[in-house]
Amino acid sequence: MEVVRSVAELRRRLLDWRTAGERVALVPTMGALHAGHVSLLSRGRETAGRLCATIFVNPRQFGPTEDFARYPRDEAGDLETMASAGTDLVFAPAIREVYPADFATEVRVTSELASILEGGARPGFFTGVATVVTKLLLQALPDLALFGEKDYQQLLVIRQLVRDLDIPVEVAGCPTVREADGLALSSRNRFLADQERRRAPALHAALGEGADALAGGADPAGVAAAGVSRLRDAGFDPVDYFEVRDAATLMPLPADWRSRGIAPRLLAAARLGGTRLIDNVGLAAGR
Ligand code: AMP
Repeated sequence: MEVVRSVAELRRRLLDWRTAGERVALVPTMGALHAGHVSLLSRGRETAGRLCATIFVNPRQFGPTEDFARYPRDEAGDLETMASAGTDLVFAPAIREVYPADFATEVRVTSELASILEGGARPGFFTGVATVVTKLLLQALPDLALFGEKDYQQLLVIRQLVRDLDIPVEVAGCPTVREADGLALSSRNRFLADQERRRAPALHAALGEGADALAGGADPAGVAAAGVSRLRDAGFDPVDYFEVRDAATLMPLPADWRSRGIAPRLLAAARLGGTRLIDNVGLAAGR
């Protein structure tokens, strides 16, 4: 496995592969890898001849009060994990390689999709994500880029920008990898104190109960309100949102969603002590 630090080296290597007719998969990460990242790498490994991964903690997607400085970093461990997962090439640039001192361009998805839910709770977050993902896609020009459904809204924002900017890449969403007790794997889970870690699976449990209630005929507003109460009772504070939305657009469900065969998605974000957790689950269309 090769590790490159500059866009020029990345391009050179990928150009060789493309010229040889090889299909290239890209897995962007912020490092601090866990089994969720490994699932993306494995899927990329299976579906493309060449697998490229990136490690870059993107300062532009952290708000002024967020945890950029504290975000976990373990490059040596990440490189071992990536090598074991069959990665051919890792792009791990310094901040100045991605954002030179005179950097002055942003990619902003202007539809409501990017201003609701995570976009509402974290102003600027999706512009930071859209800017860095656009750059990584244009730098690498992969055939396939893989992202996790764990960050479901982010996946939709990325699909939108890829369509809008005609970036020639196929975007694949991969299922959320969880601990045995349901907690979605996240680099931030390591910040949970023991007592918080014991409470954390309530987030997935509440989403699952909400999905079951919807499947049983409950109305989305009631399910959302019950979800907020359930999380507060479990010690989450504040609950940023617990919503039932159209899985394709993340807009509120219309009254006739069942007869129109619209698939719902339940999404929640809430804080346990100093750690903000997000999760989501889907439900088959019209249930
Ligand atoms: P991050 O390093 O947090 O930016 O995540 C890199 C990629 O891994 C993103 O596409 C995430 O959605 C994905 N990811 C993070 N956690 C999980 C998980 N538990 N299961 C599947 N994919 C995940």
